[in-house]
Amino acid sequence: MTALIEAESVKRYYSNASWLQRLLFLGGSEIQAVDGVTLRIEKGEIVGLVGESGCGKTTLGWLLAGLEQPTEGAVRFKGRSLGNIDAETRKKVQLLFQYPRESLNPRHNVRTILSYPIRKMGHTATADITARIHSLLEAVGLSARYADRYSFQLSGGELQRVALARTLALEPEFIVCDEPTSAVDMNVKVQILKLLSDISREKGISLLFISHDLSAVRFIADRICVMYLGKIVEQAPAQQLFDHPCHPYTMALLDAIADIDPNAIRKASLHGQPPSPMAPPAGCRFHPRCAYTEQVGTICWERGPALQPLSTDHLVRCFLYPEVSQDPDRKQ
Ligand code: SF4
Repeated sequence: MTALIEAESVKRYYSNASWLQRLLFLGGSEIQAVDGVTLRIEKGEIVGLVGESGCGKTTLGWLLAGLEQPTEGAVRFKGRSLGNIDAETRKKVQLLFQYPRESLNPRHNVRTILSYPIRKMGHTATADITARIHSLLEAVGLSARYADRYSFQLSGGELQRVALARTLALEPEFIVCDEPTSAVDMNVKVQILKLLSDISREKGISLLFISHDLSAVRFIADRICVMYLGKIVEQAPAQQLFDHPCHPYTMALLDAIADIDPNAIRKASLHGQPPSPMAPPAGCRFHPRCAYTEQVGTICWERGPALQPLSTDHLVRCFLYPEVSQDPDRKQ
């Protein structure tokens, strides 16, 4: 069955060469922001994407939103390359920005901000536009009186709701939500997460929810992908990932938030910073920080593991498991 949106063996590399290196065809180094990601998202599904800063999750989100072009591989929406679809279909894929205050024009009130995408959808009669503005505001939990406010008159949570209303005005089928709760307090975070979840369920909209906040991802996602240095290292249904994490990196991330029992034996604490994506380590990219390398052996720094299934819907990239073989993509 065709996925709503899918990335197939997608890579996004950025050149770090200076103008002189480019002039002399000397190449220079490459930043491997996303390195061979395959991911399917079904209609109505909420997929969480987690990992530390710089792991490539925002770049992957931008690739799936069509705001970046892959260096290699393909991104397809309903089976058609995202780069070749018509403008009408293109509107079905949207991105909800991390900082709504920066994405909303401070000189326009909410009515004007929402009118623009509504007109883009072909609604031109004033009464129709007004009705749609009120209905969008209601959908995101704001009353009609917010239509006359400006962004500087809104709180962080209200801004994110207006940004979501603007996104919904384009009647999307897939939204990339890039850290939408990173700039709000805990109360507002829960409200925004619930709102996104309700809207996704009611309208059948698929979401890619990008966050470094595991508790937020656990709250909202059906399925979670864990990303490390440009690669997905584990993918599983949300509950299963939290109950039975298999990759040492996932274990370490969960261990870092499991502070309920300070006497608990910490299975896989996370030390140090991730290596640079300009010079990823040979072999398994996680090996310099992994607590299991001695147990597994030299293969950890000699070969890169492939992302392979341990069960139908639980995939992992780690040689701890006999099911996992070497990544056929030798450019580690
Ligand atoms: Fe750790 Fe080796 Fe597994 Fe990589 S392959 S995560 S280094 S045990």
